[in-house]
Amino acid sequence: MKRDFQVFIYSDYPSASLNIDLVLERINKLGFSIEYRGNLVDYLSLSEQDIYKLARNLSSVQIPDISTPLDNTNPANRNEIDSEVNRILGRESVRGKFYDGYWVQRILYRTLAEKVADEIKSGFIHLIFTSLLFGTFENRRYHARVVLMGTPALVSTSGLVEAPAKPKEYYYIKGRLIQTGGDVSELDNMYKGRFVEYDDPKISSILPSYALQAIGYEITGNAFCEDPQCCLFNSHWQGEVLKVQYNGNPCEKCLESIRVK
Ligand SMILES: [Zn+2]
Repeated sequence: MKRDFQVFIYSDYPSASLNIDLVLERINKLGFSIEYRGNLVDYLSLSEQDIYKLARNLSSVQIPDISTPLDNTNPANRNEIDSEVNRILGRESVRGKFYDGYWVQRILYRTLAEKVADEIKSGFIHLIFTSLLFGTFENRRYHARVVLMGTPALVSTSGLVEAPAKPKEYYYIKGRLIQTGGDVSELDNMYKGRFVEYDDPKISSILPSYALQAIGYEITGNAFCEDPQCCLFNSHWQGEVLKVQYNGNPCEKCLESIRVK
């Protein structure tokens, strides 16, 4: 059976070290029809007014308290909206902001649906590489995520740094240092190479695996693979990401189910 899936990829000022060509090259090997559309805002030709509306919506879905699910949006003030406009236009860093992933997805879905309505249907996959850090509420608190399946699928370069946990002893030592008034600034150097950092060149070799998770989900409806060697495995630790997602490949079973024949 031949599957026809058209994948549209956009970006939203993801990590500066993300080499999208490299990512596309890796995903292309599986035979998908992929079109890279560049920056989302530019591609959709959003007007100043559209950008302001998008900024107002996105700034209203930041998470004020990680232990409370965001059932309703929180209207943002003018400064927050301006700062969000700057983020959308790539003039301001996103670090330190944390958004509700499903709300972000809904907002971006509406934006896409207004601009590319005839492409919002089955067989079309929209995927955005973003620097925006988002989370989902599970087990009584928000957890940062690398990938959010759906339309559009979101893959976050900040999430790759923040979501998978660092080695257990890293937290232990950090806790001890803080308790004893020690210097924690050297800790990241001690553990360098054992987790992904912001603007880490490794990001380009890891993100194809997450893009495949999102694309695979659209094709098969299966979110993750149970095989801990498969790049569609749901890694919870930085060590797993560096082992499984870095230059990772799908297992035979996944390959069979997602490959375009
Ligand atoms: Zn698999």
